[in-house]
Amino acid sequence: MDRVKWTEGLADDDRKFVWHPFTQMRDWEAEQPLVIEKARGCCLYDTLGNKYIDGVSSLWVTVHGHRKKEIDDAVKAQLAKVAHTTFLGLSHPPAIELAKRLAGIAPAGLSRVFYSDNGSTSVEIGVKMAFQYWRQTGRPKKNKFLTLKEAYHGDTIGSVSLGGMDLFHEIFRPLLFNTIKAPAPYCYRCGLTDERPCGSECIGELEAIMRANKDELAAVVMEPLVQGAAGMLVQPPGFLKRVRALCDELDILLVLDEVATGFGRTGRMFACEHEGVSPDILCVAKGITGGYLPLAATITTERVYEGFLADYTEFKTFFHGHTYTANPLACAAALASLDIFENEKTLEKLQPKVEFLRIELEKLGRMRHVGDIRVRGFMAGIELVKNKKTGEDYPPAEKRGHRVIMEARNQGVIVRPLGNVIVLMPPLSISMPEIRKLISAVKKSIAKVTAD
Ligand code: PMP
Repeated sequence: MDRVKWTEGLADDDRKFVWHPFTQMRDWEAEQPLVIEKARGCCLYDTLGNKYIDGVSSLWVTVHGHRKKEIDDAVKAQLAKVAHTTFLGLSHPPAIELAKRLAGIAPAGLSRVFYSDNGSTSVEIGVKMAFQYWRQTGRPKKNKFLTLKEAYHGDTIGSVSLGGMDLFHEIFRPLLFNTIKAPAPYCYRCGLTDERPCGSECIGELEAIMRANKDELAAVVMEPLVQGAAGMLVQPPGFLKRVRALCDELDILLVLDEVATGFGRTGRMFACEHEGVSPDILCVAKGITGGYLPLAATITTERVYEGFLADYTEFKTFFHGHTYTANPLACAAALASLDIFENEKTLEKLQPKVEFLRIELEKLGRMRHVGDIRVRGFMAGIELVKNKKTGEDYPPAEKRGHRVIMEARNQGVIVRPLGNVIVLMPPLSISMPEIRKLISAVKKSIAKVTAD
């Protein structure tokens, strides 16, 4: 096969027929698309045979690496039974078994699993559940949601309503329901105080907002520990614990979006474990299948679940469901992934790598245009700035983040930018030499693109 010709043909057809997510297609059409043909372990291979380290786990999902034998085998075995059967009115073994396993590993008190098929829907479901719960338990005025500024919870209208990233969300404002916003803990660019150490002003403000709105608040919805898409904003220790305590005191549900942080990303199975916190509703997706197939779960307590139990004619049913809810292939992949966590002691083995990644990354902090490095477990963001002293941003038109990730490809690494923040989210299975290579490639790319 003439790989060059094949690649050119694919590139032409891509430009002609495809519309890519989160992409200015005019720019896309002017560039050469990178077409990935296959993968193994922590590496991706393009149609020309070039090899790249998958530095963002194929958008934060790949946990144990690509082509992991145990997951390949589990999906094939399920394929030999049934690829899809509906979950509306029927059930099937992998979904039942997975629900039991998820309840077993979820933070204390979370015991009911409601499936869907992506992160946005898992959060959308959490919102609808919380809203309906209060209506059916005699507190219908509790119908508002508190979220953090800079929040990203997905792209459906409900999850966009919770969002606070103007670039993505502002245009849809007329379509959205209102939410109450609290400041995002963005320590590097804190708008609340210049003092260091600070007096946790963000927590103070959040508390005041929660107290002022307690009778109307159905739930606080937030990402625990790290706001990922906001640019890897790491919350100060104790932030989440305080939110949980306030929710308890003020009778507000806590919905934690662990779509990005779940399944080992922060070094524990779920990020909220770091602070000993259990939410009332936990939203998970992305890494749940080890990064193989679309699956999500919204996991809740018996208290919330019981708010929906009633006579049929009271219509307290949770009227929500998707065609591919609990797809059996995806559930089989998820079960195999959980087995690997156990059998290979994934989280135990991750700890020295977490430390290694942090130490290696900190070295980049000395670079002239690196303003801030934020890292928690295997989630990292490198914020590029025009002026390190003042923190002045590079203008968006310069597309520095994009240029860095394009240069990184020449260095054999795939990473993604969030504006001027370079995101690193390698698979948990990455080796120390691969981590070193990843960081060295990113360092070289930043140096080249910020040399002027
Ligand atoms: N919540 C968070 C925290 C996310 O990071 C994402 C995706 N990056 C989503 C929700 C939405 O997930 P999906 O893209 O699967 O809809």
